[in-house]
Amino acid sequence: MKILVLNAGSSTFKCALYESAQNGLNPDPLWSGLTDYTSAKAQSTLERFLKPIFHEEIDCIGHRVVHGGEAFREPTLLTPAVLKKLKHVSELAPLHNPANLLGIELLSSFFPNKPHAAVFDTAFHQTLPEPAFTYPVPLSWKKEGIRRYGFHGISHAYCLQKTAQILGKPKGRLNMISCHLGNGCSLTAIRQGKSVDTTMGLTPLEGLMMGSRCGSIDPGILLQKLRQGTPWKDLEETLNKHSGFQGICNTNDLRIILKMSTPEAALALEMFRLNHLRHFGAMLASINHLDAISFTGGIGENSPWIRSETAKAFPWLGLKLDASLNRKSPADQLISSKTSKIPIVIIHAREEWSIAQACLKLVQTSVTL
Ligand code: ADP
Repeated sequence: MKILVLNAGSSTFKCALYESAQNGLNPDPLWSGLTDYTSAKAQSTLERFLKPIFHEEIDCIGHRVVHGGEAFREPTLLTPAVLKKLKHVSELAPLHNPANLLGIELLSSFFPNKPHAAVFDTAFHQTLPEPAFTYPVPLSWKKEGIRRYGFHGISHAYCLQKTAQILGKPKGRLNMISCHLGNGCSLTAIRQGKSVDTTMGLTPLEGLMMGSRCGSIDPGILLQKLRQGTPWKDLEETLNKHSGFQGICNTNDLRIILKMSTPEAALALEMFRLNHLRHFGAMLASINHLDAISFTGGIGENSPWIRSETAKAFPWLGLKLDASLNRKSPADQLISSKTSKIPIVIIHAREEWSIAQACLKLVQTSVTL
């Protein structure tokens, strides 16, 4: 079987084509790529971009959908009724879901007779207990859908699966903290293989300081800005695109910031460290036992600095990195020393492959039914 995966962001299309063999889905794609687009030229861009694979016999198309709301708890085959519900959920994720829906619409026109499936970033967090997903605001707001959903679920679920494999333990028995640190950053507390707390909330704006998103800030700041007349659209833009690292030192690229010697760069690094550790501590509160810590994403996988700061910050946990392994950043491997009380692993993010895997499972089960 051949499965095409589309990850449609607000300005980029990321695609990968996978093929299944007898022992499962090959993690190395047959073809993959990324292209920028503008909404006016989305169709022609995607058509040109996919040209190299139009002749392939594709069996299923998988779409990453950021927000599944309360309606979607599992990977779902797309039907007109499902699409209608998804459009409704889009109101909760105005910055993400419309791009995902555009991708679905375009690929459905290119591959009209093939099964299309949606895989949701929120699905892994459907196990959050009620006190963890309810905000301390009037309870009536929850009926409007205002609650914590959590994101990066495809990535956190994959890190759980891969960490269990590396440690040789069943994933349903694992208690761990999964750190996804990329342009977007989130941590998830996993108890007995289930997400029980996570740093992102109703939207992917909550939680850690990120590349260009503010993460958690005093909601009073927004009220102050609104009171002073800042339009909400400007606030949305500023908090999503001009905050975080970008807001403090004019770049969202940690590689550049690590090389800068300005006071702003030093401040941003210290803010990020403190912010990450605060949230890490918060995740610890939700699990009474820790079997592993995983790092993934551009920063999590490649920055020895943030991993070593994490290990240093909680000495009573007995975290010890193997300094040489930490420096080398090996993928899908333990980087803790033999004397560490808790194993620490780096997991290479494979979100597209995880989506393809979910689609394969979905198509196979619907065929058996
Ligand atoms: P996205 O969330 O957009 O998928 P990535 O997971 O690719 O983003 O992460 C991007 C971040 O990873 C950027 O801040 C980038 O600077 C950082 N990064 C990539 N490589 C390194 C590295 N070697 N050291 C430190 N940071 C890195």
